[in-house]
Amino acid sequence: MEGHGKRGNGFFSEYSRSTMRKIYCDCGRILDLDSGYFALKQALRKKVECPFCRNVRISLEIQELNDHFDPPSAEGEGAPF
Ligand SMILES: [Zn+2]
Repeated sequence: MEGHGKRGNGFFSEYSRSTMRKIYCDCGRILDLDSGYFALKQALRKKVECPFCRNVRISLEIQELNDHFDPPSAEGEGAPF
């Protein structure tokens, strides 16, 4: 082994100098966000969420839309009762 050992110092000092911020999502996932992006989200009062939560939210919204415009009970209309 020569001088190619692990040197954590360089990495972490590089990292802290970057403009990335660590944000916790509600689900506990850690998001690495650009600080400018985070500031924009804050300015727009948008909730910061991880891709997983965004997918869940969007699919729930789509489901709600589908339920609204295409109710599952539609076929039951006019049923002979
Ligand atoms: Zn999340």
